[in-house]
Amino acid sequence: MSDNLNLRLTSEQDTAKLALALVQGFGAGLVFLIGDLGAGKTTLTRYWLQALGHQGAVKSPTYTLVEPYNIDNRPIYHFDLYRLQDPYELELMGIRDYLEQDNSLLIVEWPSKGEGILPPADLTLKIICEDDIRQVELSGERTVLQGIEDSFYAN
Ligand code: ADP
Ligand code: MG
Repeated sequence: MSDNLNLRLTSEQDTAKLALALVQGFGAGLVFLIGDLGAGKTTLTRYWLQALGHQGAVKSPTYTLVEPYNIDNRPIYHFDLYRLQDPYELELMGIRDYLEQDNSLLIVEWPSKGEGILPPADLTLKIICEDDIRQVELSGERTVLQGIEDSFYAN
């Protein structure tokens, strides 16, 4: 069953808190990050990767479309599909292999560009930024959202 959770982020520290809650409350799967340019999709991903234990830079894959990571022997892929010309390119990139890898985590900015090829997400975060306040609407499985919510307010 899919459900919703709304969180309000008033600082980057809140975004870091959300990232930690995502590590604690969501394991593997496909995540969609939706929001305008500058909404904070890449920033959230950066904190998420750091919370998972990644050290070093997190580049925005704007031109490369995907940036692979290996954290504690887990394959993690950060996609930015903003410049994808045709969803079919995802097939050519081998998206199916990425999705089928055991325990893989795929974080996708601009998933709308991959419509028709990308399967439904396990978790979707929609970020709306207004006056430097970010409203994040999460949708996914109820138990997963509950775990994220509990961690967010506990951190
Ligand atoms: P997107 O990937 O959605 O285009 P970015 O993450 O690249 O957006 O840019 C977001 C910008 O907003 C960054 O410069 C970041 O430092 C700034 N910012 C300010 N407050 C926040 C916040 N609470 N969460 C995320 N980013 C924030
Ligand atoms: Mg981005």
